[in-house]
Amino acid sequence: MIDYDVVVIGGGLAGFSSALRCIERGLKTAVVSHGQSAMHFSSGSIDVLSHSPTTGEAVSNPFDEIAELAKTSSLHPYAKLGEKRVFESLSWFQQLMSKHGLPLKHQGSLDNHYRVSSLGTLKSTWLSQPYVWQLDQNFSALNQINRIILVSIEGFRDFQPEIAKAKLARLPMFADKELLTVKITLDTSGIAQRNCHEFRSIDVSRLLRQEADFASVCSQLRQVATPNDVVLMPSILGNGDGLALMEKLAAETHLKFHEVPTMPPSLLGIRIEDTLRRAFIEAGGALHIGDEVTHGVFKQNGDQLSLACLYTRKMRTVPINTKFVVLASGSFFSKGLKAEHHKVSEPIFDLDIEDIGGRESWYSKHFFSRKSHPFMNFGVSTNREFKPLKAQQCIDNVYCAGSILAHYDPIAHGCGGGVAISTGFHVADAIAESQESACYAQKLSHSQQPNQSQKKGALV
Ligand SMILES: Cc1cc2nc3c(=O)[nH]c(=O)nc-3n(C[C@H](O)[C@H](O)[C@H](O)COP(=O)(O)OP(=O)(O)OC[C@H]3O[C@@H](n4cnc5c(N)ncnc54)[C@H](O)[C@@H]3O)c2cc1C
Repeated sequence: MIDYDVVVIGGGLAGFSSALRCIERGLKTAVVSHGQSAMHFSSGSIDVLSHSPTTGEAVSNPFDEIAELAKTSSLHPYAKLGEKRVFESLSWFQQLMSKHGLPLKHQGSLDNHYRVSSLGTLKSTWLSQPYVWQLDQNFSALNQINRIILVSIEGFRDFQPEIAKAKLARLPMFADKELLTVKITLDTSGIAQRNCHEFRSIDVSRLLRQEADFASVCSQLRQVATPNDVVLMPSILGNGDGLALMEKLAAETHLKFHEVPTMPPSLLGIRIEDTLRRAFIEAGGALHIGDEVTHGVFKQNGDQLSLACLYTRKMRTVPINTKFVVLASGSFFSKGLKAEHHKVSEPIFDLDIEDIGGRESWYSKHFFSRKSHPFMNFGVSTNREFKPLKAQQCIDNVYCAGSILAHYDPIAHGCGGGVAISTGFHVADAIAESQESACYAQKLSHSQQPNQSQKKGALV
């Protein structure tokens, strides 16, 4: 039998944010995580709110818009938290990442910034890694550079600089900028012999750990770029090394870099997950990686429904006992939600799902419509404290966080990272407070109980 204060189901951005906050609040915490999280596929920048859920318009300052959500989209997770709490959670996250070697930055104005994507489009986001070139909303950063050099590696298919260049050239703010594409070469014979189709960012990062290859890249870059240019290159450094190699590259070449996420695996996203995982283990958390929570046993006490214990695929009949659970198992992408032809369900606890209507209303007819596809907003029903419902009854000791929640579209509204961090952080605090008040109540009842000698009526 294993006992914890909190078990977090899911090792994505929401799960680790919640678990790290639980540990900080003194709770004995475990994470059970099944597979890769959405971070392996992400840009590694944290989107807080790029587009208004109400109007669909681009948002300048996400916190101003979040303050309005209580009036216009009261079920949105941000509306339940309020802008101050969202800001507090993101500041906490920033400090945590910084402490563990991955500083994330935002604009001094607290406005969103643009980053150039691997396809040469501009994406609005809020927190980015140090080698992501932040373009403010007036594009004033463009005045400080001469040229944009788009670099890729010969034979590497997951970033095509010509496509990015063609797209960038069509944007009016880049009209007077010289855009240049360059291919650099690496000795990839070892990889080609193994499997010529498997030349991914991870393989390049492994090659670039070797001194000779790294030095060759530095020298080729120095020949094509100057410190007045921006070198836009795929994220190919630092699988498991954090920022160390990017820092070394910048120091040895004196160039200004902009890392773009490649096709998955995305090293920018993996860097965040690695950092969170390391921080969690260093803080004393228990990580059940590669295991999967299959179901739980519930107990009904009067009108109170609570979860008694959990079972996992690997531990089979051995239950995990826990006072609280944070369900952060993600959306359809991570199997936190399951879609069948006419039904959407939550597979672990069979929780209630928000009303989704008939299948014909699940999606917009136009795939690339700027409006959100309704299915992206599907998720579990929760009360204002993010406690889920099961057969319309609130579960007292379970909380939900991240993309399993209903009523927001992480992609269309650019708020996936922000909702994951802020809901994870918030539910951890709610658990800590509920645990503290339970302890206080227990102490109080003990101190009010007559001691043995009093019970027997003895004179003290
Ligand atoms: C492809 C993609 C790219 C994205 N890019 C960005 C981006 O660049 N920036 C941004 O801000 N947002 C991005 N998002 C939005 C994304 O939803 C959030 O940023 C966030 O990462 C979601 O985190 P999460 O922890 O809720 O879920 P997830 O990251 O999906 O993690 C859920 C975890 O739970 C595990 N799990 C599921 N079931 C079980 C079980 N039964 N037992 C144990 N573990 C289980 C899964 O294996 C997974 O590891 C992206 C989303 C997708 C799908």
